[in-house]
Formats: sequence, C-alpha cells, structure tokens
Amino acid sequence: MVNTIKEMKSDVCIVGAGPAGMLLGLLLAKQGLKITVLEQNPDFHREYRGEITQPRFVQLMKQLNLLDYIESLDHVKIPEVTVFHNSNPIMNLKFNTLIEEESYCARLTQPTLLAALLKKAKEYPNFKLLFNTKVRSLLKEGEKTVGVHAQAKSGEQINFLKEQVFEGELNVHARVTVGVDGRNSTIEKLGKFEVDLEYHDNDLLWFSFEKPKTWDYNIYHFYFQKNYNYLFLPKLGGYIQCGVSLTKGEYQKIRKEGIEAFKAKIVEDMPILKDYFGNVTNFKEFVLLLCRMRYVREWAKDGLLLIGDAAHCVTPWGAVGSTLAMGTAVITADVLYKGFENNDLSLETLKQVQRRRHEEVKLIQNLQLILEKFLTREPVRKELAPLMFNIATKLPDITKTYKNLFTREKPLDIDDVFIFESESSPEKKEQIGIS
Ligand SMILES: Cc1cc2nc3c(=O)[nH]c(=O)nc-3n(C[C@H](O)[C@H](O)[C@H](O)COP(=O)(O)OP(=O)(O)OC[C@H]3O[C@@H](n4cnc5c(N)ncnc54)[C@H](O)[C@@H]3O)c2cc1C
Repeated sequence: MVNTIKEMKSDVCIVGAGPAGMLLGLLLAKQGLKITVLEQNPDFHREYRGEITQPRFVQLMKQLNLLDYIESLDHVKIPEVTVFHNSNPIMNLKFNTLIEEESYCARLTQPTLLAALLKKAKEYPNFKLLFNTKVRSLLKEGEKTVGVHAQAKSGEQINFLKEQVFEGELNVHARVTVGVDGRNSTIEKLGKFEVDLEYHDNDLLWFSFEKPKTWDYNIYHFYFQKNYNYLFLPKLGGYIQCGVSLTKGEYQKIRKEGIEAFKAKIVEDMPILKDYFGNVTNFKEFVLLLCRMRYVREWAKDGLLLIGDAAHCVTPWGAVGSTLAMGTAVITADVLYKGFENNDLSLETLKQVQRRRHEEVKLIQNLQLILEKFLTREPVRKELAPLMFNIATKLPDITKTYKNLFTREKPLDIDDVFIFESESSPEKKEQIGIS
C-alpha cells in the first residue's frame, strides 16, 4: 500500500464514466485537451441501465458521424411501439411517421456503448480513464474548484493504458471539473448544488425472460392490464425485458405479501409469462428502478460543472435519459472547447451549458410529468388512464408530442471539429472490450 498522495494534472477532470462522461471525455480528447475520467466501478458492467436509445440518439450519433460505428455493434432496431389495454391494441406508433431517416430506437447495452466510446478514446494519448477510483472531495482554492481528491481501491484497478496502475489516494488538478456522476451525484453534494425539482411518484420493477415463440421481437409493447401496467422491450440474445409499473413504495408491500401472490397477479394479467414464472421462487430476479426526476437549479460553479443525470435526471418514460445526458455532454464539449480556445473558463462560460440545454431538458421533463399521470397505478386514475390515453392519441397535436419526446427537430448547434472521420469503424460485430 502506497501512503503518499499521487498528484495528477489535467485540463478537464470528469467524474463518472457513464454515457455522458465517456462521450464528453472522447469529444474533448479529440480536441487535444488532457482529460482524466474517474470511475468508481471496476468496469462498465451494469444491469438494466440506459439500454434503449431513441431516434434522437441515432440522430445524435449521425450528427457526430459515429452512426456507422455504433451500428456495427451488437444491437436490436425497434421501429415501432404498440399500446394495449386488457390485451387489445389501442395505439401503434411507427417511428418513420415522425422522421424519415434514423426512424428507430436502438437497443444497445450500456457496457457495449461505453466500451465502444472507450475504444475510440484510446486513439488519443491525452485521454485517461481510471476505474475503481472514487471521488471523495473537491480540491479548492478559495471558492473555486481546482480538481478532486479520490481514492483508488486496492485490488483490481484497471487503467486501460496499462500505466500508472496504483492504489491509494489521488489528487487530480484540473482547470475544469465536471460532475457526471449520475442520479445520486457525490459532486452535487460536495459542490452544495441546490435542487429545483424533485419528483418521485412511481417505480418500475425490471426482470427479463426468454422470448416466447409468438412474441413480436422488434416492437416495444406497453400493456394497461387489470393488476399492473407493463413495459416490454426486446433485449439482445433473444430475451425480453419487462418493467412492471408500481407506485412509490408498493414494492415493499409486494415483498411482504410474498412471491407467490405477486406471480399469480402477473400471470393473471399476462398468461404468456406462466412458463417463465414457474421457475421463479424469490425476488432475486427483480431490479427496482426508482422513477425519479430531478433538476438542479444552477449547474455551474466556479471551476465546477454538473451535467447528465447529476444535473437533470428524468424518469424512464420514453427511455430518453441516456440520450438527454449525452446531448448535454456534446454541448458541454462545445462550450469547454471554445472556453479553452478563448482562455475563458469563467463561471459565465460554464453557465452557457445550462442556458443551451435548459429548454430541451424542461420540454422532456414536462412531457414526462404528463405521462406519469397516465401511467400511474394510483387506484382512481388507474381506471381512467387507458381511456385518457386513447383520447390523447387522437388529438391533433399528438404527433408533435411524440416528435418532441423521441426525436430532435434540429441537430445540436456545435462546432464541426467534433465530427469524426468516416473510416474508423471497427470490424463488423467485433468484440469491443477493455484490453
Ligand atoms: C434501471 C435503469 C434503467 C434505465 N433504462 C434506460 C433506458 O432504457 N433508456 C435510457 O435512455 N435511459 C435509461 N436509464 C437512464 C440512464 O441510464 C441514465 O439517464 C444515463 O445513464 C445517465 O448518464 P450519465 O452519464 O449522466 O450518468 P450515469 O450513467 O449514472 O453514470 C454515472 C457514473 O458515475 C460513477 N460515479 C458515481 N459516483 C462517483 C464517484 N464519487 N466517483 C467516481 N465515479 C462515480 C457511477 O459509477 C457511474 O458509472 C435507466 C436507468 C436505470 C437506473
């Protein structure tokens, strides 16, 4: 065990290697800036996170000229969504009615996406990612943040460049520190950011099952059924992922009643799941996602910026969280790149990120707040929800609403320097991993 604190210097220190942190790191490294990304986990492996990306993600990748690269990875294309009430279809939306090109959702696992971004970032020697390294505090000069203090865990810390592998304490000094550390952000707490909006009414309980033979694999399904509402999403490897919609706190009650009672209700709603539930004997299969929405009042402080879920977490409705976080990462890259070019990384410069992202984030959050009312399982509204949904789908403005949720009207306003050259696609279906 080394007792001295290791000192490192970077232009930008990025805390968190999720989709937003990795994309930001890649885009800034492409501009020659010295980037250090710190990630508390030992790798990218996550279960049930940000795996569905909307046409707006496909649009973003196309804008950066990364779409061929992304399409060469293992993914499923989902061109439509169908909504059912008591097993009868009440609405179908084909994404090609919203936009002509990029008219699909891509089901892409988060580890695959992150490893692909890392593989690209490896092309730049000025990019560094340290896994197993948890940020504990901010380095300060008066009120200004000048980096972070972190703890590198003993054991299997991986540095993909196979250099400076160490354990112990670490200071990363940086001109700008970006907290991209997700919905339970440490940087938000350390930086004493204030939260403007905190909403949490519903939860989703996830599990996966082998695709039944009769199931149409390439369609999102949403079911309003007697006991619960369900979201079904195609998953790679011939599986379907299901999210059972619950009210906040309902899962604790379900667990008290026991697995058999829960299984009986689900199978009553969805008889197609009978075989799968025959083998389920406990709650280990399930992962609870708290459907929280948050909005941090001011994302910038002197030397410090909060972006992605850490600044603007959204609920799972519309599966838009990762894409929104990555959109903010792209705008952040644009703002910081220009800030470094002009030698102006003042608080005013950092504030531009929120100014440029506020409208889109708020649009999505407001749409989701409406959706939450439809999808709730609160007893009275639960009965009315399918009816209200049915009426809403016939409203003249509904296409505009879908467009706002699933697509972007215009490309993000960024400098051309962020657009990648075409030739660097990996081999089709090449296994991308950390070597
Ligand atoms: C169960 C679940 C299902 C979801 N499904 C979808 C979906 O289908 N589609 C969709 O678009 N979105 C989905 N989301 C939301 C999506 O995952 C997020 O919106 C997206 O990952 C946000 O990206 P981010 O980079 O801002 O943060 P994150 O992806 O949360 O990444 C933050 C990173 O910071 C690291 N970190 C945290 N604290 C520290 C610290 N102190 N030091 C170092 N590292 C730290 C974390 O380990 C993490 O890797 C889902 C979320 C969950 C939880």
